[in-house]
Amino acid sequence: MINITENNKKDCCGCTACASACPKNCISMVCDSEGFKYPKIDIKLCIDCGVCEKVCPVINSEKNEELPEKAYIVRNTNPDIVKNSTSGGAVTAFCEEILSKNGIIFGGAFDKNFEVKHMSAEKTEDLKIFRSSKYVQSDLTDTFKRVKKSLDDGRYVMFTGTPCQVEGLLKYLKKPYEKLFTVDFVCRAVPSPLVWKKYKELKTKKYNSEITYANFREKTYGYHSANLTLRFANGKKSIENTKTDYMLKSFFDGVCSRPSCNDCAFRKVKRVSDLTVFDCWNITRYVPDLADDDKGYTAVIIQSEKGSQMLKDVSKKLIMHKADVDTLIKNDGFMAVQNPDVHPKRSQYFEMLNSGVPLDRIVKELIPVKASRKIFGKFKGILYKTGMLKQMKKLKKH
Ligand SMILES: Cc1cc2nc3c(=O)[nH]c(=O)nc-3n(C[C@H](O)[C@H](O)[C@H](O)COP(=O)(O)OP(=O)(O)OC[C@H]3O[C@@H](n4cnc5c(N)ncnc54)[C@H](O)[C@@H]3O)c2cc1C
Repeated sequence: MINITENNKKDCCGCTACASACPKNCISMVCDSEGFKYPKIDIKLCIDCGVCEKVCPVINSEKNEELPEKAYIVRNTNPDIVKNSTSGGAVTAFCEEILSKNGIIFGGAFDKNFEVKHMSAEKTEDLKIFRSSKYVQSDLTDTFKRVKKSLDDGRYVMFTGTPCQVEGLLKYLKKPYEKLFTVDFVCRAVPSPLVWKKYKELKTKKYNSEITYANFREKTYGYHSANLTLRFANGKKSIENTKTDYMLKSFFDGVCSRPSCNDCAFRKVKRVSDLTVFDCWNITRYVPDLADDDKGYTAVIIQSEKGSQMLKDVSKKLIMHKADVDTLIKNDGFMAVQNPDVHPKRSQYFEMLNSGVPLDRIVKELIPVKASRKIFGKFKGILYKTGMLKQMKKLKKH
């Protein structure tokens, strides 16, 4: 029987495979004080059948020695899709292909309260809910069961998620399904949904208005200077970058990640997914005669024959450049193999959060934003409009 306690939380990635597979429905996913969900077993109903352990991707993590051989750097041919996606808008092209076969798409999205959940879409116009990364652990709820139901009904299904979510889904399904297509991403870590909740509350109070739009990676000042942008019902807007925003800084400093992310069983180059996607920050290293226009490219590693076929099928929708897997991982995808350290102030951060200290005060005290960064952030819009930001980036590169 799965038994997650205060002492072994790092052994649970929260993928819901155990709760979804339990024949007695006696496992529920319950939030802890940090805002992460863990399985809780109703002992009175449990028959100790061991199914929960058999489907757990952490206990049974695949150890694939054989490395993937092919990778590409791609960009969607539709500029609007690129603009609204995290990097090159590759994922939308894969979704469209599955929809063209009357399929159904599952992926991380915002619900109406801007909580991050796995949601589904069956129409091309609805694919916008998936675009752009949400740097919060998404709540899967009953997604695994819904994926299985759709597959059992004979439909094509695409599932995108963290490497642990994809491996958890495949363990839960037990057998391969020809019509299932999975995409995972290189994943630094998943931040706490509680921190995101506190962040939204802080911003709602500051702007004295409801949030109507959120984007963790808006390309307002280009791909290389992405911002967390919020819009409010009163017409106001908050734009902060990775160095100044309380949520982004907490994520990138690794102070509010799920414990399992520091000892991730899925940080490997060869995955169980069909394709692995991630940010390609260094296009000119792979295609030297291409000027970096700061719009974004997606790196894609082919993990299976289905993945290879998908890239052929969508080749008209993507501009594609071949790349070497090793070089791509070293330059851009090192988070695929390198576990981040546990932040020394992590416990203090959550203690303060739970005792009601506002997020801005916690960040200022534990992971302070440099004054120079704040000033730079304030003038970024002007620097961008006058072209000076581009010049500064060029100088920094040399
Ligand atoms: C939590 C997180 C951490 C990441 N860490 C890294 C990293 O360290 N290095 C790196 O290179 N890339 C990382 N990525 C991946 C990267 O941000 C892009 O997803 C990738 O470049 C593909 O971009 P795209 O433009 O092709 O797709 P997009 O159109 O941006 O599609 C994004 C896809 O991811 C799904 N998604 C978004 N948020 C979540 C979520 N919270 N949980 C599950 N699924 C979600 C969407 O449903 C959609 O299918 C991370 C993504 C997330 C969500």
